[in-house]
Amino acid sequence: MIQKELVCVNCPMGCRISVELEGDQVLSVSGNSCPRGKEYALKECIRPERILTSTVKVNGGVHRVLPVITSKEIPLDMIFDAMEIVKKTEISAPIHEGDVIIHDILNTGADVIASRSMKAVH
Ligand code: SF4
Repeated sequence: MIQKELVCVNCPMGCRISVELEGDQVLSVSGNSCPRGKEYALKECIRPERILTSTVKVNGGVHRVLPVITSKEIPLDMIFDAMEIVKKTEISAPIHEGDVIIHDILNTGADVIASRSMKAVH
């Protein structure tokens, strides 16, 4: 059996949560002050997810790169492959904040969206 210590990031209370695991099986979760903490701990131990933030190349814009972010968290074990796709992506200005740059990346259900607008160079 192994024990993992986590800090819940779902609210400013930052509860310290202990999880006891046997292989992939979660035996117990303690230290959380509400059900959201248990949900967070289970997800972190079984299949953690993260928001991806990066930049994509821009053609014809006032800057050469545009910051992008996923519309929701994606599995942590898919971040590397997702980054490879983002790195190879090139778009053309103008771009509006919230534009979908990559739809449903790696079939995760998350879109990669523009974090800001960018005008085209005239
Ligand atoms: S367990 Fe609940 S109360 Fe504690 S940090 Fe997480 S969300 Fe907040």
